[in-house]
Amino acid sequence: MNTFAGVDLHGRTALITGGGRGIGAATAFELARSGAVVALAARNEASVVDVARRLREKGYTAFAFRCDVTDTRQVRDLALSATEAMGRVDILVNNAGTASSNPLARISLQEWNHIMEVNATGTFLCTQAVFDQMVEHGWGRVVNVASIAGLEGGRYIAAYAAAKHAVVGFTRSVAAEADGTGVTVNAVCPGYVDTPLTDETIARIMRRTGISWHDAMRGVLETSGQSRLIRAEEVAEVILSLCAEEAGATNGQAIVLDGKDTP
Ligand code: NDP
Repeated sequence: MNTFAGVDLHGRTALITGGGRGIGAATAFELARSGAVVALAARNEASVVDVARRLREKGYTAFAFRCDVTDTRQVRDLALSATEAMGRVDILVNNAGTASSNPLARISLQEWNHIMEVNATGTFLCTQAVFDQMVEHGWGRVVNVASIAGLEGGRYIAAYAAAKHAVVGFTRSVAAEADGTGVTVNAVCPGYVDTPLTDETIARIMRRTGISWHDAMRGVLETSGQSRLIRAEEVAEVILSLCAEEAGATNGQAIVLDGKDTP
């Protein structure tokens, strides 16, 4: 059962970064199903064009834009194009992200900067680009896709955990600025989710250690204490719930999806 089936986003517009696959694509479907007009952005234009086409085939209104969220000019253009296409941006889902894993000694400055730029700087730039129009309109929802790694550290994820901690700190601080404006800023913090990003993590472990897919997956789930991978749709439902009219009293929170199912 879809526990968030009651959320009504008719008349609302949403911009979702990293909307070409995984959690971003699932979120686009979830928000569109609830009535929102959606705009998707990613570096690979074909991926977002394809998701937007599938959304339109279902009768939803969807737009696709190419944007690298680490590039100030491209983010400014994205905000302008999305606003022009949809009339305004009511909801921003800062989902674009990337991960890496390496022991401290092997993290290059290039890897560190890249992980910080996509996850943390991208979230900052996109939020800054639409925040004022939300405040002026007196309503807005910013949902940042952080991670459990935004709240806890772990072996070999120093760069990713630092970037996601930055996203959580950013969320809490902008939420304080948003207080009383009708705009809320929250984060979702999932454990491992069944997406291409996790496929890449498993493939990397297999390459480096020579262990099987099964053992790599078991190791990943054991380190995160999860009984199973979380589905992208489960993350999308929590994002949707934070976008609801009724979620106005939830601001500056980091909502954990720990993947620890009760028996
Ligand atoms: P995927 O790799 O499946 O999708 C990532 C999306 O982000 C793609 O559409 C990708 O498109 C886009 N993207 C990456 N870099 C950029 C960039 N510089 N500019 C614009 N778009 C970009 O990842 P997930 O769906 O798994 O992850 C989504 C978010 O969830 C990320 O922030 C991730 O850190 C977070 N997360 C994921 C977890 C997991 O286990 N999978 C767990 C916890 C959090 P393109 O490459 O075309 O730009």
